[in-house]
Amino acid sequence: MNIIEIITKKKNKQPLTEEEIKFAVMGYVNGTVKDYQMSALLMAITINGMVEEETIFLTKVMIESGHTIDLSKIGGTTVDKHSTGGVGDKTTLVLIPLVASCGVNVAKMSGRGLGITGGTIDKLESIENYQVNLSEQQFIEQMKKIGCAVISQTSEVAIADKYLYALRDVTGTTESIPLIAASIMSKKIACGSSAIVIDVKVGNGALMKDIESARSLANLMIKIGSYYNKKVVCVLTNMEEPLGYAIGNGLEVKESIETLKNNAPSDLLELVLTIATIMVSIGKNISKEEALKEVKQNLENGKAYQKWNDMVLMQHGNLEHIKINPEFISIKSEKTGYIKTINTYKLGEICKEIGAGRVKKEDKIDYGVGIVLNKKVGDFIKEGEEILKIYTNKEIASHLINNIFEIVENEVPTPKLILDILE
Ligand code: URA
Repeated sequence: MNIIEIITKKKNKQPLTEEEIKFAVMGYVNGTVKDYQMSALLMAITINGMVEEETIFLTKVMIESGHTIDLSKIGGTTVDKHSTGGVGDKTTLVLIPLVASCGVNVAKMSGRGLGITGGTIDKLESIENYQVNLSEQQFIEQMKKIGCAVISQTSEVAIADKYLYALRDVTGTTESIPLIAASIMSKKIACGSSAIVIDVKVGNGALMKDIESARSLANLMIKIGSYYNKKVVCVLTNMEEPLGYAIGNGLEVKESIETLKNNAPSDLLELVLTIATIMVSIGKNISKEEALKEVKQNLENGKAYQKWNDMVLMQHGNLEHIKINPEFISIKSEKTGYIKTINTYKLGEICKEIGAGRVKKEDKIDYGVGIVLNKKVGDFIKEGEEILKIYTNKEIASHLINNIFEIVENEVPTPKLILDILE
C-alpha cells in the first residue's frame, strides 16, 4: 500500500477501504505520511466526499488512534453534548450545571476556539484560576461527587483528530461533511457517554451555511452513533445572528451566569431549555413533558446556579474575578428602522481580530475583550442610538464595523431559533 495510490484513488472518486484509511491517518500521526500528502487527501475527500461506510471507517480509525474513557465507574446514564460551533455560543456553560442539577451525569470534554467560533475552554479560563486540565481520575472523582465537570479534552483522546483538525484549518478543508462528522463523533464516542445531543448550527456564523447541509451532517452523525450503539439527537439551530448578546470569553461567562440567575436572553434560554429537556429525558428515561418541568424548576429555584458554583469551585475557579476589559468603544446606529440581518461571521472576525480568538493555534487569547450587542434581528433602533459595544483597548478600523447590520423600514419578524430536531 502507498499513500500516492490512496490519494489517486480518492481523486478518482473511488471509496477507500478501512485498511487504506488507517494507513493514511496513522501514517500521518506517526510522521510517515507528510503534511502535503495528507493535505492532498483531505482536499480530495472535501471535493469528492466519502460514502457512509468510509466515514464510519474514518471515525473508527480516529477513535482507535487514542484512548477511550470508561465512564461506567460513575454509574447511571451519562449524556454528552456538542456544538458544531457558533458565535456567542455559551450554551454549555448553562446547560451542563442545569442538566446535572436534575440528576443526570454530564462528563464534558470541550475544545478551544479556532477560527471565528469560540471554545468553551477559553471561556472558562476567563474565570481566574479555573483548572481545565484534570487527570482522568480527578475527572471521574468530580463526576462521582457532583455529577458534572467541564474540562479540556485530554491529549490522549482521538489523537488523530488533533492532527487532522489543525491541518484542515489551514488547508480550506474544514467544511467537508464526512470530515466534520468523523471529527465530532470520534471525540464524543471516545469520551464514553451513552447518549449525545449535538447542536448543529446553521447560518452565516456557522460551518453549515444552509439547512440541507446541516441535515446531511446530522443524519450522518446519527448513523455513526447507531453503529456504535449510541443514541444521537441533533438539534439544528439558527446561527444567522449570535446567540444571546455577548461575544467574547469573559463577557459570555457573565451572560451565562445571568442566565443561571434567571436573567436570560430569550434565544439562549430557549436553546438551553430545548437541549436540557432532551438530555434529562434520555438520562432519566422520562417523558419530554416531565423533563421540561424539572429543567424549568431547577433553573427557577436556583439549583442549576448552585451546581455551577459547585463545579467552578471544585475546579478551583474564582468567580469574583472574571476577566472583562474595562474600556469599550460605543458604536451608534447610522439609520432608524428594524434590524433585518446581522453579519455574524464579521462579528466573529472582529472578536478574533481584537484578541478574543486565535489567528494561529499558538496565539494567546485576551479573555476580557469582545462585543456586546444592544439589538438583535427584529428589533427597532433609532439613528444615533447605541447598537453595540466593543470591549477593547485597540483602535478599530472603520471598514471592520461597516455593514454589520442591515436596517430596513418595515417590521422584521423575530427569527426561528430551533429549525429541526433529528434522531
Ligand atoms: N467541531 C469539531 O469538533 N470538528 C469539526 O470538524 C467541526 C466542528
